[in-house]
Amino acid sequence: MFLEGKHALVTGSTSGIGLAIARALHAEGAQIVLNGFGDESEIAHLCEELGATHSGADLTKVEEIEAMMAGAGGIDILVNNAGTQHVAPVEDFPVDKWDLIIALNLSSAFHTARLAVPHMKARGWGRIITTASAHSLAASPFKSAYVAAKHGIAGLTKTLALELAEHGITANCISPGYVWTPLVENQIPDTMKARGMSREEVIDKVLLAKQPTKKFVQPEDVGAMAVFLCRNEAQNVNGANWSIDGGWTAE
Ligand code: NAD
Repeated sequence: MFLEGKHALVTGSTSGIGLAIARALHAEGAQIVLNGFGDESEIAHLCEELGATHSGADLTKVEEIEAMMAGAGGIDILVNNAGTQHVAPVEDFPVDKWDLIIALNLSSAFHTARLAVPHMKARGWGRIITTASAHSLAASPFKSAYVAAKHGIAGLTKTLALELAEHGITANCISPGYVWTPLVENQIPDTMKARGMSREEVIDKVLLAKQPTKKFVQPEDVGAMAVFLCRNEAQNVNGANWSIDGGWTAE
């Protein structure tokens, strides 16, 4: 329970990867603040399971991020994980979807970091962990906003790493390939449309085709990596972008 006494905020943790990270940090004793949308009774159940509090802040809105951070108090472990996807050819890409993805997948991490860092500096210890993506390192067609935001958040994380290194604070990305979560499930219909494929073809020829292991990444794999990044042994892991993608970006 090496994280006892540490406070962790995991954005987008009512589902998928963020929930797995929250569970993994909680298992090591961290006090968790959950964030994200969802069914109220399910969220209440998660709070009970994890002894956590929950903020329903919409992270596309700066004032809601500011209220969430003020309510959370000092955060020692900040996990910037919330994100969404939209798949469309660039000439048809809805402008509101571009704005949403840049706000949620990129700008929200700047806002949470700028508000979390003063406490981390005062404590002389902190961890900033970003769920980036294989798409922070490589592109795919029809995902212009997502790829731009993920490359951007990888750059932001490297900047934080350099700026905060002497304060006992590290900043790193974890970059999964395809993880079977609602985010992946929801992009299948639009990918079918954009590529003229069936559901099975999208799974085999688009999703798993990218991953040499031919296996989806498990949310728990990402949780385990996040826990490692919080350990003292990881104090010199800083500014890194750790792939968990079955070899996708090794090509
Ligand atoms: P998910 O859809 O299961 O979870 C997304 C979470 O973000 C949910 O808790 C949701 O409520 C929350 N959220 C959505 N909009 C929000 C908003 N405006 N404000 C606050 N919270 C909001 O998705 P996931 O697959 O677990 O994705 C989590 C992160 O992992 C994302 O950043 C995603 O880009 C990244 N990622 C996912 C995969 C994958 O294959 N699933 C691969 C690489 C990276």
